[in-house]
Amino acid sequence: MVIKTLNDYNIANKKILVRVDLNVPIENGKVSDISRLISAIPTIQTIQSLGGITILISHFGRPNGLYKEELSLKQVVPELEKLLNFPVKFSSELIGKNVLKKIDNLTAGEILLLENTRFFAEEELNEESFSKELSKLGDIFCNDAFSAAHRAHASTVGVSKLLPNCAGQLMKKEIDTLENVLKKPQKPLTAVVGGAKISTKLNLLLNLIKKVDFLVIGGGMANTFLFAQGLQIGKSLCEKKLKETSLKIISAGKENNCEIILPHDVVVASEFTAHTNCSVKDVKDISSKDMILDIGPSTCDKINKIFSISKTLIWNGPMGAFELEPFDKGTIHTSLYASKLTKSGKLVSVAGGGDTVSALKKSRVDKDFTYVSLAGGAFLEWMEGKSLPGVECLF
Ligand code: AMP
Repeated sequence: MVIKTLNDYNIANKKILVRVDLNVPIENGKVSDISRLISAIPTIQTIQSLGGITILISHFGRPNGLYKEELSLKQVVPELEKLLNFPVKFSSELIGKNVLKKIDNLTAGEILLLENTRFFAEEELNEESFSKELSKLGDIFCNDAFSAAHRAHASTVGVSKLLPNCAGQLMKKEIDTLENVLKKPQKPLTAVVGGAKISTKLNLLLNLIKKVDFLVIGGGMANTFLFAQGLQIGKSLCEKKLKETSLKIISAGKENNCEIILPHDVVVASEFTAHTNCSVKDVKDISSKDMILDIGPSTCDKINKIFSISKTLIWNGPMGAFELEPFDKGTIHTSLYASKLTKSGKLVSVAGGGDTVSALKKSRVDKDFTYVSLAGGAFLEWMEGKSLPGVECLF
């Protein structure tokens, strides 16, 4: 079955209940990163251009079912208005008579943002009576929050079953991009997985091994693999208990014809601080005082060669402790090369999940990748091969 979009409905003068993700960082009462707001704009503008009425709902932070002023969505209204160049009305109530009255008074093209769905405990419990209240807010439900699709909540899954539904533009773009990359990619397909620990990315590694031609492992998690292979890793971050698991991953790679690339040279320091003395060492020469904090230049070159023979790249996690200079070099060097190949049309590159977006932003390549997903948990779960309830319910 094909997912429906707004184009499948006649939405003129209809109330479109749009689940967006307005969960943006706030500093001193102001939005400090508007990326998620920017992503929400195309669907809203499409509804306006088709003469519909937009009712926006979203979660914001973790209020645990209680009203918390600092987590009121009212704070995002000024930024939304600026981006839309159009007034956005706000309702401090999410459900009930008063809101319904406000909605009835709206005319085609108008936009109303409702208060944080998570001020109700029923939201995360996906309670049916709460979903029913939400369903009264619109004629059609449009889910545009891929980043919340890994949770079966009332505002994502519950309400989708009670109204005619469809995917918004961002949701559709995320689904199409991610399907193209893992389900029907142009081969060779390479995955880059970095970050701190194997334990948080075990399912991801096990799923990728079955699908990709090359699996590049960097960051702190590579240390555990080096340790498992009998190498000294000194004071480096390492999950020694996962030695056997790492060896199993390596043999699963061989069974599945997936070449695993681990660092053969690394940047080491004696402490985890910026601009500390550091040196490049072969992984066979690590001393007990060394801490591995980045991949080395020769490993970067090897990774870039793999990128040159790849047609598709999927990336999650930094190659080193990228927040501290100069341990951001491995991530910068390799992501810059991937972006260059992407710009010249030789590579389809998709990245996402947690720290990855910040790492790519630091390298200033986030705009040059084919697609950078702002969905943290949902992106990771999708990479793990899990089906996402917020997407499934739209089919
Ligand atoms: P994750 O959230 O699992 O993607 O991990 C990201 C974190 O891993 C970042 O904060 C990095 O600083 C950290 N990281 C990456 N490589 C290393 C390393 N070699 N040693 C310590 N931390 C690292």
